[in-house]
Amino acid sequence: MPEADQLQRFLLEKLGVRGEMVRLEASWRAVLERHSYPETIRQPLGEALVSAMLLSATLKFTGSLTLQARGDGPLRTLIAQATHDRTLRGLARWSEPLPQTASLGDLLGPAQLVMTIEPEDGQSYQGVVPIQGDSLAMAIGHYFDLSEQLPTRLWLAIGDGAAFGLLLQRMPEQDSEDEDAWDRCQLLADTLNSTEMLHQPFHTLLHRLFHTEQVRVFESDPVAFRCNCSRTRIGSTLRAIGAADLDALIAERGSVDVTCEFCNREYRFDSVDVSELFASSIPTTAPSQRQ
Ligand SMILES: [Zn+2]
Repeated sequence: MPEADQLQRFLLEKLGVRGEMVRLEASWRAVLERHSYPETIRQPLGEALVSAMLLSATLKFTGSLTLQARGDGPLRTLIAQATHDRTLRGLARWSEPLPQTASLGDLLGPAQLVMTIEPEDGQSYQGVVPIQGDSLAMAIGHYFDLSEQLPTRLWLAIGDGAAFGLLLQRMPEQDSEDEDAWDRCQLLADTLNSTEMLHQPFHTLLHRLFHTEQVRVFESDPVAFRCNCSRTRIGSTLRAIGAADLDALIAERGSVDVTCEFCNREYRFDSVDVSELFASSIPTTAPSQRQ
């Protein structure tokens, strides 16, 4: 049986290459169930979720990694977010009519890929790269080439019930005698087809690719869908709208209703809730600033 909702890291020590494989099933369905995504949108959404999970797992940090594609095409927004504890969420917004068979380029139009890394404490980091080529995997590979980070490549396969991704990354400071190792690993990974990726167990795939190499396999991590939205977070978004606009909404409808687009949870703020939002945000003067 292929692994479901697991992330597996591995190491090709002699080749100076590390890798990860992830297969999403329930977590992928959980994202798909939230909105009625057309077939053409499912592919890039799955690719973004798998990519965000793979990339976040290359980092030693506590926080989240978000991939966002912004374009002018019918696929207006594509967002996927993964956290250090292997949870993910994501969504896509699109406008009709959608082309029947569409490449990522057709869907997004001229677009940018934004990668945001937000540690729980510390500076957040954002990188932007134009999306060239017709897949998210290519765009991400291009991003790593441009950003002088470790060479990194992704192979993705998206199906109805599962989404799979393989990541290979060249390790730093390799004075490996085996100069061709990195290229060879990529050529091997290029031979995987979607059916294998979606349906074969990780160890079968690893054996198929690297049976002549020593592969160190780490314990796999469970992956799950989880949205970290909360009443507090929604409240601070509302505060940014301003008291006047919120009061106008309440006068008109009796309450301000917000639905989280990632998980469809509903939040209702009545007039008392709204006044509390602003009561708790009165700025206080820090002692050092007092004259
Ligand atoms: Zn939510």
